[in-house]
Amino acid sequence: MPFIAPLLTVYMVFIALALGSFINLAADRVPRGESVIRPRSHCRECGRQLNTIDLLPVLGYALRSGRCATCRSPIGASAPLVEATAGGFMAASILWFGIWPGAAAGLAFVACWGLAVTALAARRYATDERTR
Ligand SMILES: [Zn+2]
Repeated sequence: MPFIAPLLTVYMVFIALALGSFINLAADRVPRGESVIRPRSHCRECGRQLNTIDLLPVLGYALRSGRCATCRSPIGASAPLVEATAGGFMAASILWFGIWPGAAAGLAFVACWGLAVTALAARRYATDERTR
């Protein structure tokens, strides 16, 4: 079954992209002391709950031209970059190490990426709070 490895690679990269989307959510909410579970993902400006198209990693940003579909407020270019980087870590890891242990190493890289992005966001949030 030579087609399994490419399929698994695509699947794991998609998982990493989705985890990248969660990293964005965590980086936005954790510094503010908010839950990462509730409420569901929404626009910070108008409160509209995000739908399936908005939540597509990288593609959702492109389809919405980087803006909220309702109030047109900018989303920020860091969102698709964080998602694409997570997917890139997984792809590179699988290409380098093979599907196993590449997928496991990729998940570890994505976890480190998530911690780094969230820590930087927390630091930035604390600095913004001090200067306000
Ligand atoms: Zn909005």
